[in-house]
Amino acid sequence: MSSVTEIFGSMVFDDSVMRQRLSEDTYKAMQKTIQDGRKLDITIANSVANAMKDWAIEKGATHFTHWFQPLTGFTAEKHDSFISPTKDGKIIMEFSGKELVKGESDASSFPSGGLRATFEARGYTAWDATSYAFIKDDTLCIPTAFCSFGGEALDMKTPLLRSMELINKQSLRVLKLFGNENVTSVKTTVGPEQEYFLIPRELYEARKDLVYTGRTLFGAKPPKGQELDDHYYGQIKPRVKAYMKDLNKELWKLGILAKTEHNEGAPAQHELAPIFATTNIACDHNQLTMEIMQKVAKKHDLICLLHEKPFEGVNGSGKHNNWSLSTNTGVNLLDPGETPYENAQFLLFLCAVIKAVDEYQDLLRASVASAGNDHRLGAHEAPPAVVSMFLGDELNEVLDAIERGKEYDSKEKTLMKIGVHTLPRFSKDTTDRNRTSPFAFTNNKFEFRMLGSSLSVTGPNFVINTAVADVLEGFADILENATDFETTLNELIIDTIKKHKRIIFNGNGYDDAWLLEAEKRGLSNLPTTPDALPALISEKNIELFSKHKVLSEVELRARYEINLENYCKIINIEALTMIEMVKRDILPAVSAYGRELTDVILSKKGVSSALDCSYEEETATSVSCLTGELFANIKKLDKIVSESESITDMSKLSFFCKDSIIPAMKAVREVTDALEVVTASEFWPYPTYGDLLFGVR
Ligand code: ADP
Ligand code: MG
Repeated sequence: MSSVTEIFGSMVFDDSVMRQRLSEDTYKAMQKTIQDGRKLDITIANSVANAMKDWAIEKGATHFTHWFQPLTGFTAEKHDSFISPTKDGKIIMEFSGKELVKGESDASSFPSGGLRATFEARGYTAWDATSYAFIKDDTLCIPTAFCSFGGEALDMKTPLLRSMELINKQSLRVLKLFGNENVTSVKTTVGPEQEYFLIPRELYEARKDLVYTGRTLFGAKPPKGQELDDHYYGQIKPRVKAYMKDLNKELWKLGILAKTEHNEGAPAQHELAPIFATTNIACDHNQLTMEIMQKVAKKHDLICLLHEKPFEGVNGSGKHNNWSLSTNTGVNLLDPGETPYENAQFLLFLCAVIKAVDEYQDLLRASVASAGNDHRLGAHEAPPAVVSMFLGDELNEVLDAIERGKEYDSKEKTLMKIGVHTLPRFSKDTTDRNRTSPFAFTNNKFEFRMLGSSLSVTGPNFVINTAVADVLEGFADILENATDFETTLNELIIDTIKKHKRIIFNGNGYDDAWLLEAEKRGLSNLPTTPDALPALISEKNIELFSKHKVLSEVELRARYEINLENYCKIINIEALTMIEMVKRDILPAVSAYGRELTDVILSKKGVSSALDCSYEEETATSVSCLTGELFANIKKLDKIVSESESITDMSKLSFFCKDSIIPAMKAVREVTDALEVVTASEFWPYPTYGDLLFGVR
């Protein structure tokens, strides 16, 4: 095997490849496009396309595709080969600038949430030169944005790119006021930590629930779960190790900075974290990571489960979105820094995030809402559905002192060199981790922890970017007009802390008492997806997105519809899967087992009435009682699902799913799991939780 340095980025048309393969002028033009988003003129696009094609063919590629992220949350691609016929009946390999820059695509089968009705079904994909092209499965993939012909965003990337432009602009205004003359761009950075499960492929295939829904709809608790905490950061099994090694290699080829890997809390659960990158690239990379995790698993006869809650009773999987802002001069704006001005600047950016999270808490909650994530949030394994922020004791005391206009007593801690005006001194390091907070400050970044494992990180990130940019705009407006900058800055910081400190909570977010306290503070608590999604179309949030041209009202309503519909479809598929499994596999199995028991009883009694039949009789009685109960419950579920078919209003349907279908499914599951415990192994039609969770050795 070649060395990691050789492998890394070998399938990416990155800066070094461009430097090598493009003429100096073309390279310079490309740089301008990448850095400032300038349009490429067609002759330059032609040269880039040609160089890309030659490079890709050398690497074995035969096709190209515009790679995009429709509103399904997955990625989509439509492959075209490079071949083009010549007059003499042969072919040549061609790829034009036009094909690179823009593609046409039939948008009609992608969710468009009503946009389809008003606009043309066709859509187009437009090259996003800020994310490098790469080769995957012998195909040159060109990262693109996906829009309708009317220009409406039909994908995740478009609003993200718009939000990045926005936060760049507003951050620069603020930075200028602090005298940062050489900063010309500010980008947000993201490092998503990805959790997942690995289970044996043959066991997965034996479970219709996993195949159809990605999670188990049944399964009695095994004798051993995660109570011993022996899996968390435990030794990695050889088979898993081999998988991780292979996975890293594939990710590295694509220039993805896969860095750390370890076992997670639940048995069979693992985590992969990359080194952070610019948000746009981090989002593309996370989509690729999820895809490749699943592909590589199959090669190892494993299945990688990305569902938020594949197993009841053990932890589900999330994705921690580490987020920060950094300048082209390499300064992290959420780092307290060394000088007085850096400190003050840090406090202002910190306040901007605090205010943004408080004002748009409902939107942040909505950005992570999904049927799968509803199993995690508030289930004592992930943050509650209430958004709050953790800053750590140290920083908290600093803000407290600022608010009260007091000197901050920093005790023996190492002091930072500061002294601007009344801004206090504080030591650089913050306190211990709080793992229960939805939005936690960790050294020089915020960690948004509410994301589910299968979610595209793009959505939450364009929400954070837009909300923070909106606040920065307000701050810049005030500060640019200030006659006394330092006093105004000081007042602005104090005012922001006063108004928004309710969002700061440093205690245990899993504690029930917190929910009561949060209610007193007036924080929003949106426990489920149907409760959370309407935030996407509230007046305040439509105003936010449309004012900044990140998403228009029409685009937002479309997203609301799509998410709602997606939720209802998932619940429906789960209910139907449950019905099929119970009717066709579970009921027949337990009925056969009941017959087996009664056969034994009859034959024993035929031999001698003195033979003890207590085991068979008691078991047959429980099996038969539970079977009757299961039959009744599944009929109820069946009826409720039929009722749901007549509900046409999507919002009503989502609440019907939550309030009627989900409880009916729960009732079916309870009886089924009780039956599993009393049924002989050889009769039970599916691999058990024990098999699934401990099957990879
Ligand atoms: P910690 O131990 O503090 O969690 P790590 O270095 O393990 O820090 O980082 C966790 C994740 O946060 C990694 O994916 C990392 O790349 C990411 N991260 C670190 N710094 C930043 C940053 N400035 N912006 C975005 N993500 C970051
Ligand atoms: Mg973390």
